[in-house]
Amino acid sequence: ARSFFVGGNWKMNGTKESLGDLITGLNTASLFVCFSEVVCAAPSIYLDFARSNLDPKIGVAAQNCYKVAKGAFTGEISPAMIKDCGADWVVLGHSERRHVFGESDELIGQKVAHALESGLGVIACIGEKLEEREAGSTEEVVYAQTQVIAENVTDWGKVVLAYEPVWAIGTGKTATPEQAQEVHEKLRAWLRANVSDDVADTVRIIYGGSVTGANCRELASQGDVDGFLVGGASLKPEFIDIINARA
Ligand code: 13P
Repeated sequence: ARSFFVGGNWKMNGTKESLGDLITGLNTASLFVCFSEVVCAAPSIYLDFARSNLDPKIGVAAQNCYKVAKGAFTGEISPAMIKDCGADWVVLGHSERRHVFGESDELIGQKVAHALESGLGVIACIGEKLEEREAGSTEEVVYAQTQVIAENVTDWGKVVLAYEPVWAIGTGKTATPEQAQEVHEKLRAWLRANVSDDVADTVRIIYGGSVTGANCRELASQGDVDGFLVGGASLKPEFIDIINARA
């Protein structure tokens, strides 16, 4: 069985003071980590702070990285630096990177390849925009994004696939459990057809987009929803309830 995976994406939020309070709350909560793997994605400048203060049973992720190890790339960070801060994961292909910062599928693929080669786990994000869903092209869009990721994956054991429909991110418009399950099931079938049975059976496909303490249990009860990537609610006490959604 696939273990439940919950990522908290803090995005560009927090101060040492507020994140310190959040971390204390997480460290002292009863987390059923026997059921769930938990990873917090901190702003890069706070990676070291997050890793130094979070309980070791909670993983730390960066929210992005560049496609090479070092060099003249002002403002970027490398997987090697992320590892040097003690973090084990990186979020790649997030919709805000794709749509606010214009990252292409090709660049995201190169980042996935380099992050995995460097030994990081990758939370690889995909998802359609509202107009794409309304045009009936959700499958086509998420398959194309997954294809580019798949071409760059060397070890699927280090990859979590995050389905985050863009229309559900930060909008309060959560996908219904049926909508999430439908896409997750299709993505798993895509993995079966294009990668392997073993990868289809073992890769966690997590859902992101307006997940809250109130809606997490019903979403988590869907057979192909293996966890969550949580934005806004990961900064609030309800994140504990989301972590424990399957407990
Ligand atoms: P929200 O949970 O704030 O909708 O954000 C989702 C997300 O983008 C997580 O990566």
